[in-house]
Amino acid sequence: SRTVTEDEYVSGAQLIAEALKTQNIEYMFGIVGIPVTEIAIAVQAIGIKYVGMRNEQAACYAASAVGYLTGRPGVCLVVSGPGLIHALGGMANANMNCWPLIVIGGSSDRNQEIMGAFQEFPQVEACRLYSKFSARPSSLEAIPSVIEKAVRCSIYGRPGACYVDMPGDFVNLQVNKSTVQFTKCCLPPPISTAEHSAVSKAASIFAHSRQPLLIIGKGAAYSRAENNIRKLVDQCGLPFLPTPMGKGVVPDNHPNCVAAARSMALQHADVIILFGARLNWILHFGLPPRFRPDVKFIQVDICAEELGNNVRPAAILLGDISAVTEQLLEQLVLMEWKYPSYSEWWKMLREKMKSNEETSKALALQKSLPMNYYTVFHHVRELLPRDCILVSEGANTMDIGRSMLPNYLPRHRIDAGTFGTMGVGLGFAIASALVAKDRTPEQRVICIEGDSAFGFSGMEVETICRYNLPVIIIVVNNNGIYHGLDANTWKEMLKSGEPAACAPPICLLPNSHYEQIMTAFGGKGYFVKTPEEIQNALKESLAEKQMPSLINVMIDPQSDRRQQDFHWLTRSNM
Ligand code: ADP
Ligand code: MG
Repeated sequence: SRTVTEDEYVSGAQLIAEALKTQNIEYMFGIVGIPVTEIAIAVQAIGIKYVGMRNEQAACYAASAVGYLTGRPGVCLVVSGPGLIHALGGMANANMNCWPLIVIGGSSDRNQEIMGAFQEFPQVEACRLYSKFSARPSSLEAIPSVIEKAVRCSIYGRPGACYVDMPGDFVNLQVNKSTVQFTKCCLPPPISTAEHSAVSKAASIFAHSRQPLLIIGKGAAYSRAENNIRKLVDQCGLPFLPTPMGKGVVPDNHPNCVAAARSMALQHADVIILFGARLNWILHFGLPPRFRPDVKFIQVDICAEELGNNVRPAAILLGDISAVTEQLLEQLVLMEWKYPSYSEWWKMLREKMKSNEETSKALALQKSLPMNYYTVFHHVRELLPRDCILVSEGANTMDIGRSMLPNYLPRHRIDAGTFGTMGVGLGFAIASALVAKDRTPEQRVICIEGDSAFGFSGMEVETICRYNLPVIIIVVNNNGIYHGLDANTWKEMLKSGEPAACAPPICLLPNSHYEQIMTAFGGKGYFVKTPEEIQNALKESLAEKQMPSLINVMIDPQSDRRQQDFHWLTRSNM
């Protein structure tokens, strides 16, 4: 027997780092502590970027945004028990959004299990509800293959969250390298196409439609189907409607975008093709009265279990969106089919778009102070760089911002998503800025937050400053959740008793100076009340290429959305 030299031994932490590197993981977010600190150190030493955050929830949101933006999962590293539990919000959000994510959780030492160990919790079981895959390697030797499986599982089929549990005693334990089952990087996700008969059927349904509509979801954005979908829209002259994160797959200013007539388009379309958009609450379940009872849905999705949810589709195209779009395109070109641009349907849509745009414009141009949402977004829009990544959350801020702020490029808008999660903004912004720094250094990240939404992860401003990320945060401040009170009414109200007894639950402290959270850590802060002040602050912030800034925009605490045709629209994400 030969003697084993020292460098043939590796620790659990090093094995994790090497395995992640082998799987082409680029970014890890987390909060260190017992027992995971060594993992973060090993990961950084091997050339994976590590960002220490202030709350595991935000760390997990950040890691999940990396997955959506790059197609390769980000990793969230957390300590045992409460650390992992804080991350569950991020796992749930990623899994609901169908975004790839890896969470690695430290857990208590194996020899103390079920004894009441420090931060002991049944973590593998707990994560099962929030993930596609949740496991603990049975030995140090198995670490590379479990990490490979987690990464593969996160990006194959419908993307989602995966959890790997790491007992504390594994982290510093050493094994002889020769006993480890090293694995190679998993193959890229296979690209599947739809059945030929289903493609022909879908094409023929299209060719017979009178009022067709194409709906572009975030699945189309994730799968990088922009070129083929753009071709389909252009070649066939089809009206299209993006979902919130489907925005930008085809530019919002494309003449066939009917977002400004959304309700009408949904309500009257006779054939709708869904590219990576589920018929969940965001699309009103595909049911009347928001849709025609006889509407024919053609569903394109990578997940077979999704097909037929809530409605019986007229055709189902199981496969990768980009590949299926190409199949459809071939078929429609063969049939020489093009939707006529002077149809009654186009006329209806164009008229509705025009009248909706005029109402928003009238609100945007109101001169009264305090400003309303429309005025704020109108003035922000004029200065936004075309290629900026827009992060957005907050009820009204996100809803109104979505219609007022254009996207020209795919995967350039991230928001509260399928799960309607508030608190995602700063984590998303940090991830986007980090990815931009490495890939497109000139690109800016602009994070438009409601004041309530900002509060969920406000301390991540310190993270933004620590890592020199030139994020611009705009807090649209209406002193509350949905609405708030102005300072005088708030003072009057306090005369009637303790705030806990009489302050309306929707209220936050009026005129809060959120910009001082930014100045506290060395960034720039602006407190603005007029369109001119917004524009000056935003111009200065954009000119500053290195430093983050926060623009706190005071608006009318009673400002609201313009009148909607459907009153329950106000409760929806769209
Ligand atoms: P939105 O919120 O924009 O309506 P959803 O999250 O509801 O979008 O839907 C996205 C859908 O895209 C999911 O059903 C998911 O399975 C699907 N999807 C993800 N990646 C692909 C892909 N490469 N090809 C086809 N469908 C995909
Ligand atoms: Mg608010």
